[in-house]
Amino acid sequence: MKAGSPIADSLHASLAELQQHAASGRADYATRQRWLEGLQRMVTDHQAEWIAALNADFGCRSAVETRLAELFPALEGIRLARRRLGRWMRPQRRGVSLWFWPARAAVRPQPLGVAGIIVPWNYPLFLAIGPLTSALAAGNRAMVKMSELSPHSGELMARLCERYLGRDVVRVINGGLDVAAAFGNLPFDHLLFTGSTRVGRMVMQAAAANLTPVTLELGGKSPLLVTPGFDMARAAASVVAGKLLNAGQTCVAPDYVLVHADDRDAFVAALRAAARRAYPRLAGNPDYTAIINQAHYQRLLAWRDEAAGHGARVEALGEEDADLLAAERKFPLTLIEQAPAECAVMREEIFGPLLPIITYRQLGEALAQIRLHPKPLALYLFDDNRARATRVLDSVLAGGVCLNETLLHVAQDQLPFGGVGSSGMGHYHGYEGFVTFSKMLPVFTQSRLAGTALIRPPYGKVMQTLLRLMLGKVK
Ligand code: NAD
Repeated sequence: MKAGSPIADSLHASLAELQQHAASGRADYATRQRWLEGLQRMVTDHQAEWIAALNADFGCRSAVETRLAELFPALEGIRLARRRLGRWMRPQRRGVSLWFWPARAAVRPQPLGVAGIIVPWNYPLFLAIGPLTSALAAGNRAMVKMSELSPHSGELMARLCERYLGRDVVRVINGGLDVAAAFGNLPFDHLLFTGSTRVGRMVMQAAAANLTPVTLELGGKSPLLVTPGFDMARAAASVVAGKLLNAGQTCVAPDYVLVHADDRDAFVAALRAAARRAYPRLAGNPDYTAIINQAHYQRLLAWRDEAAGHGARVEALGEEDADLLAAERKFPLTLIEQAPAECAVMREEIFGPLLPIITYRQLGEALAQIRLHPKPLALYLFDDNRARATRVLDSVLAGGVCLNETLLHVAQDQLPFGGVGSSGMGHYHGYEGFVTFSKMLPVFTQSRLAGTALIRPPYGKVMQTLLRLMLGKVK
């Protein structure tokens, strides 16, 4: 989308207006608290509307999941930011080396200006409010691009942001891919993108033209490794909870499982039991979220059939009428074993309830399997042996790690969140989010008593002696 098209012109005009507001004065502590309180109110006071909007976007979005995985983490993030804001904003004293004593050094966090935030459809509330919390806490204005696949949430976000924050603080943009592309071309002071690795590449390329720094929150195949002897029922219950939340449409959902060959039968039996207990039925079950649209539903069916066609063992957990499930776009947890490496389920991020299970004999084989893929967004390890767990963590790099549990590392606002390699770059949540959207301005203050005159020209003997001392010896 070139500047000059009506869409690009209107986006540029919005950005220019926000830039003017940003330039009119830095947002102080009280202003930022007011903004964060506005965010908090638009979540807390409109819970029923959020639940309804998300349900409309998905066809069926579990109200419990919306409260647990969108409203709650969004509010937790805002509450932490409000509690810590004063501490985060305070200038940080830093040391100066002996040579510059008694000068002083400090880091003063400053707002960058106007941030861009691009949001995917899978958690439209949390993935808009989370980055907004960081951007506003850091004193920035923001433009937020919602996903074309979650229009109801997008419309509600636009309405509530206008009401609780105002158009001089946040603009929410809704629209299709043409709008998204034009949005990515805007010269923001920082751009946080959450979405696929494929689109992340395009976003980074567009941002490069403006030298806009990016935080990319991407996806990938997050492995789940169960070590020999681990309690299979405990592991399976966590796998089912993590894989079926939002019907697997979660960036950090366990993508595939590695289990010791001797534990395979016990693990699969435990999975069957855990899935039956969690979701006794899928059709008509308001607690089981639907696949977002027909295209994604068909994609999952095609990937399942491709694996079966290549000789994989495929087992859908729970017997239900396929037509009924299709009508509701409910997809059962489907185990896939012995699928060849070239199948889509073994290569691509699954983003749905298909679960490849891979067996290993030696832990090294399992780790080698993980390393076949680019660095994942999450690594799940089920292991009660601390020393072995540490060895595994030291040998695989991932965006984040969750030990003996799935997903919950994301809910820890005192931990940074972000990918590595093709699962993303940069961090947000909590303090790291504040830093991402701030210029951490280094300030050096000279003292009246400074000895700087000694290191200025004309260079004489004193300078030579000083330099010998300054350059030192290797001890
Ligand atoms: P997507 O990449 O298709 O779209 C994400 C957003 O980018 C949408 O708002 C879309 O409109 C916009 N977009 C599309 N083309 C664009 C362009 N050329 N320039 C700028 N923006 C553009 O992703 P999706 O299907 O909405 O979400 C699923 C993906 O997101 C999965 O890969 C998942 O792993 C990932 N994800 C990552 C996280 C995380 O925190 N790391 C969280 C949720 C989802």
